[in-house]
Amino acid sequence: MFGKKSTMCTTCGKEIAVHERSWVYMQYPPSGMTNIQKYIELSGEVYCTSCVGKLEERK
Ligand SMILES: [Zn+2]
Repeated sequence: MFGKKSTMCTTCGKEIAVHERSWVYMQYPPSGMTNIQKYIELSGEVYCTSCVGKLEERK
């Protein structure tokens, strides 16, 4: 999700624009904030703001 490759919303597939607010759903990494970028790339699920709204409604 960082760098040049584009990131898509896990639910709707919308591309997350640079600087757009988005949500990353992930387990808290065992190593804490160390290497968190790598951890997000491997196991983070990215959602756009509108899809996060839908997730909240489902609860
Ligand atoms: Zn979405």
